[in-house]
This record gives sequence, structure tokens and C-alpha cells, in this order.
Amino acid sequence: MLQAARRKAMLITFDIDGTLLKGGENANTGHKRAIEWAVSKVWGVEATVQSVKHGGLTDPIIIQNMLRKHGKSDQEIWGKMDQALQMATEYFEKTYADNEPVTVLPGVHSLLDTLKQRGVYLAVVSGNLESIGWKKLERAQLRPYFMTGAFGSDHTSRGELIRIAKRRVLQCCGVAAADDDVLSWDIYHVGDTLEDMQAAKDACVLGIGVLTGNVRQVEEFGEAHSSWWPFLVLPDLTHREVLLARLGI
Ligand SMILES: [Mg+2]
Repeated sequence: MLQAARRKAMLITFDIDGTLLKGGENANTGHKRAIEWAVSKVWGVEATVQSVKHGGLTDPIIIQNMLRKHGKSDQEIWGKMDQALQMATEYFEKTYADNEPVTVLPGVHSLLDTLKQRGVYLAVVSGNLESIGWKKLERAQLRPYFMTGAFGSDHTSRGELIRIAKRRVLQCCGVAAADDDVLSWDIYHVGDTLEDMQAAKDACVLGIGVLTGNVRQVEEFGEAHSSWWPFLVLPDLTHREVLLARLGI
């Protein structure tokens, strides 16, 4: 007798800023302030996050960009990076006031509810330092949706962060991270930047782009990778039914 095919396990990793939560110039002020404070204290450089490319990058790379702009060598930068990340985290924890706004983007709660109900494993992949990323998600009441995550404090490369998140989910599920196990999973990464889609490609998972951050046109995702398109691009996460249909769940 034929048996119904068992659906593969599915993991979806989500970026935070510009994907789950509103990003941009007027958001994340506490986070930016913490980084700028640490850069000032550790290297004596007064620089702003806003003055360098930061969307889609991990916090250590953002700090590197701020310091390079002020003439610091890579040796000067990376020799003190751990100290700066620690100080930025502590400063954020002390100063992240309860009244600092966090805006959950449209459709996020409803989509995450549905994915959970349908047995999809959810993890965070963000360039934020870990404690900062989790605190924002707590404030937004999104933390309970996620089993685990990988953050800018784990690695400087976003592609590597997707691989780390994948390993952590497999560990949480008690699955050995052998290639055969990974191959039996469907894995997607959702993000708002070209760097997210590149990371998905690097980690050999399928990228799902959203136009709620820096990228405003579907074509921009394609132009950056002429030989490779994201699996799907959505205007925002209110397009739940389109996503569920493409995922086949
Ligand atoms: Mg983002």
C-alpha cells in the first residue's frame, strides 16, 4: 500500500530590522546610540552609524566601517572589537528605556502565528548583537515565536549566521547536523536587504525578500544577482496567503 509522503521539516529564519520591525533612519535609536558610545569610549572616535553603510550588515562590520572612515587600521579596529561589543551590549541594556518605540511591521504577528500552527520551525538571523536583538523582539512581543537565533555577536558573515541558526535548530530538535539530516529540511531565509539574499545563497537556502526595508523595487533584488533570483519577493508580510501557497503549507 502506498504511504503518503511525509512532509519535510521546514525552517524559516527571519532578519529583524526592516523585516520584522521597522528600520530606517528614525528607528533603532537606542541600538545606534550604544554602538556610537562604545566606538567613542574604545577608540576615541566620534562617528555615527547613519554616516556609513549599515543596512544588512552585522554590528562588528558596521563598527569597522565607522572606524575605517576615520582612518583606523584593521589591526587597531579588530584588536579591540570584543571589548567594544561587550561595552555596546552593556550600554544598551542599561539605557534601553521602556518608552523607546519598537514598531512591528504589518502582517508579522499573524504570519508567525500561522507558521507556528503549521509546525514550521522559526529562528532569528540578525546582524544585531545577541542581547540587543532579543531585547527588541521581547519589547515587540515576538520573542516566543523563535526557537533560537544567530546574531552579529556570533559571526561577521550573514551567510555563516544562517548556517549557525540551522545548526542550533537541529540541536534543539535533537537531530545530528550531518548533511543527510540537513538535506531532509526545507530552509528559507526572509530579509529586507540584498545582503540577506546573498547570505541565503551563500548558505544554500532559499531567499525570500521583503520590500519593507531599504529595497523598494522587486527588480533591485534581481539586479544584484543577475544569475540568481530570490525564491520569492513580497511587498510586505501581510501577503501571508501568497507565501503559504509558495511554501506548500
Ligand atoms: Mg534588515
